[in-house]
Amino acid sequence: MNQGKIEEKWYQYWVQRGYFTPKIDKTKKPFVVIMPPTNITGELHLGHALTATIEDIMVRWHRMQGDPTLWLPGVDHAGIATQVVVERTLAKEHIDRHQLGREKFLERVWEWANKYRNKIIEEHRRLGASMDWSRLSFTMEEGPSLAVRTAFVRLYNKGHIYRGERIINWCPRCATALSDLETEHQDVQGNLYYIKYPFAEGEGYITVATTRPETLLGDTAVAVNPDDERFKAVIGQKLIVPAVKRIIPIIGDEAIDVAFGTGAVKVTPAHDPVDFEISQRHNLELVNIMNLDATLNENAGPYKGMERFEGRKAVLADLEKEGLLVKIEPYMHSVGHCQRCRTMVEPLASKQWFVKMAPLAAPAIKAVEDGRINIIPGRFAKVYLNWMENIRDWCISRQLWWGHQIPVWYCQDCGELTVTVDIPETCNKCHSKNLKQDPDVLDTWFSSALWPHSTLGWPNDTEDIRYFYPTSVLETAYDILFFWVARMIVMGIEDTGEVPFRAVYLHGLIRDEKGEKMSKTRGNVLDPVPLLEQYGTDAVRFALLMGTAPGNDSKLSTIKLEAGRNFANKLWNAARFVIRSIEPVNQDISIHKDKLTVEDRWLISRLNRTIATVNTAIGAYHFEEAQSTIHDFLWGEYCDWYIELAKIRTKNATTENNPIPVLIHVLETALRLLHPFMPFVTEEIWQSLKKASLSPTMQAESIMVTDYPETDNSLIDIKAERVIDTVIDIIRSIRNTRAEHNVENNIWIEAQVYAGELTPSVLLHAQAIESLARVKPLIFLEKHRESKPGENVLVNVLKEAEVTIPMASMVDVEAEKLRLQKEINQNQAEANRLDARLQDSQFLSRAPAAVVEKEQAKQLLIKDKLSRLKQELARLQ
Ligand SMILES: [Zn+2]
Ligand SMILES: [Zn+2]
Repeated sequence: MNQGKIEEKWYQYWVQRGYFTPKIDKTKKPFVVIMPPTNITGELHLGHALTATIEDIMVRWHRMQGDPTLWLPGVDHAGIATQVVVERTLAKEHIDRHQLGREKFLERVWEWANKYRNKIIEEHRRLGASMDWSRLSFTMEEGPSLAVRTAFVRLYNKGHIYRGERIINWCPRCATALSDLETEHQDVQGNLYYIKYPFAEGEGYITVATTRPETLLGDTAVAVNPDDERFKAVIGQKLIVPAVKRIIPIIGDEAIDVAFGTGAVKVTPAHDPVDFEISQRHNLELVNIMNLDATLNENAGPYKGMERFEGRKAVLADLEKEGLLVKIEPYMHSVGHCQRCRTMVEPLASKQWFVKMAPLAAPAIKAVEDGRINIIPGRFAKVYLNWMENIRDWCISRQLWWGHQIPVWYCQDCGELTVTVDIPETCNKCHSKNLKQDPDVLDTWFSSALWPHSTLGWPNDTEDIRYFYPTSVLETAYDILFFWVARMIVMGIEDTGEVPFRAVYLHGLIRDEKGEKMSKTRGNVLDPVPLLEQYGTDAVRFALLMGTAPGNDSKLSTIKLEAGRNFANKLWNAARFVIRSIEPVNQDISIHKDKLTVEDRWLISRLNRTIATVNTAIGAYHFEEAQSTIHDFLWGEYCDWYIELAKIRTKNATTENNPIPVLIHVLETALRLLHPFMPFVTEEIWQSLKKASLSPTMQAESIMVTDYPETDNSLIDIKAERVIDTVIDIIRSIRNTRAEHNVENNIWIEAQVYAGELTPSVLLHAQAIESLARVKPLIFLEKHRESKPGENVLVNVLKEAEVTIPMASMVDVEAEKLRLQKEINQNQAEANRLDARLQDSQFLSRAPAAVVEKEQAKQLLIKDKLSRLKQELARLQ
């Protein structure tokens, strides 16, 4: 059966038995993770795969420890992002959403949503994610939608939501307002235009500098710093706006930077956030010059109907003609772009819905400060607090069709607003039935902010919300700390009075092999599905976690994927050996403590130490450390040492020293330890082992529902560890020496070993040392070996032993002497040539300094080599 089939088989098996659905047990504290809802915009990327891997590790670990464990999966409608991708597919059919109309367009988006929702489920199944699919939630479903309307109405009634005219970021392509977070700033090479504004009365003018000259059509003042000596006298006088000939005042405002441009700036309150604030202080008029598609409107006078950049050209041409354009300087400045479609955003004054954040932020700040929420790694707590302390109001209305329509109805007769959870029949004030709902929808992050409580049934009082809320850990990538995590804390506390989760664990982003951020534009995005097919899910999970640390970015490379696959293969080979050794099936495989050999006790001791490290590491969110600890134990101690020692033992096996019971016991325990990390290969091997061994301790239906191993300190055996670690050290040192001297595998070499008080114990492993290090004869010394003068031996000093290897046993001394003498002669000749050259005054005077230096360096190297060769030769005399 191929890898994919095995994975599918076990996933089905787990789902059919209902393992992913927790049983509510009021005597136990549940462990709850709400999955970050995946956007229905398209396929999964590696970030989703890492999220699923880390969460699955936590969840399986807690489940195996007996905690009622809920991992609730979800999908997000991803308002603007989805609308953009659906619009793009429609564009391929040459259809505009306005041609379709709102209803038909939404049908198309729902089709898309259903298709991708299934894809998301399918891909998470392939990743082995043990989510409770019976609780799968979608932001646009009735439950979460009711939560959205309820939260909106509550905030509105408390005065935390208001509608107002503010400068917002407008995306002309998406034709919607964006929040500050959805606007990405990039440095753009632009120009600074110096423009003359003539005085309304008398002669002269004031020059102002601007990066967006077309906005002068919306100017309602020119501002200077009141302390600026150059302009003090003119404050209060009037100027004429070029092109539209509007008369505007010169005002004094302390916000003006005397060093920027000429020190006098134009004020366009409807198109700039700073100017908007100035206008509030000075009661200036707002003149909006732009339509929502970024063409100029009737306030732009002669430029009406032009596209914004076309308008800029026309305005500049006219200024030039009138001699009002003083100069143009190149200027680098930061410009906002739409996060979803990359179009340059237009700051403009618009009537939108906002959440007043400051009063809501206060309890969310407190929850992190007083430790009710623990942010891991801790440095992000500072980032969070800093952002929350400086938070601005959140623009939540979007001029989109896909999303939760704002629950506000405007009376067409009296103008009153009716804000209710359910569709109102009549106007609150005049009881007219002539009501019209606000056409806008809410920011997609508004529904995400309610996710932990809305998925558990809020605002209804459900068994789920009473048992599973607050949740345990919120795990996500650090890049959505503000978008999502912070807002969940705000809304969770606001709606329920309690924090939404006790801990926030932030993982890093996955970069490519070179450390570059993966992005569609760079073309270096790796799709997880082909990787799952090529390497197997367990290997991909292993590779994704390798080299990660909380909050740090990591690189995914072929080397890591291969390491994952090799580890899975190594386990398979080990398991095959164990299962083959079990036959015949009826042998006694129970462990008799009194019959354990020293290497049995060593392995069991190492296993218990491994268990302790792993449990501590997972508990501290050091998943990578836990994984590599299990890997090193299984690969190194279990496969490379114990199995090799066991093979030697079974050659002359008696029932007295049969290693099979320990082989089975340790493999079975280590598989359970590894299960949360590599769920499929561990289940497959565990089931084969169960079948072959008929072990009475393996009665469970699945490894998934066994207990997670716990350390038994009584099994830590320091003496056994000292003995076997010393045996391993001895074998390793002899192997290294052989490798350094290129000793062929078929040559046996001599070694003498002294291991102090451990000698009698190490002696019992003589056969293992002989066969694994290819040593013959192996001589155990009774006391420290004293070296005799002129003796040609190698001595390896180890932690608890000393290994002496006579050179003659490794190399043919006479042949080696000849070889060394030949090499010395060759090097001596080259050294002589260099000496002669470097004493030649003609060479020294003519050659460039670099060449001379090079020759000098060569000479040093050769002399060093010569002296080492001569030492080698001397040792052989
Ligand atoms: Zn856009
Ligand atoms: Zn009314």
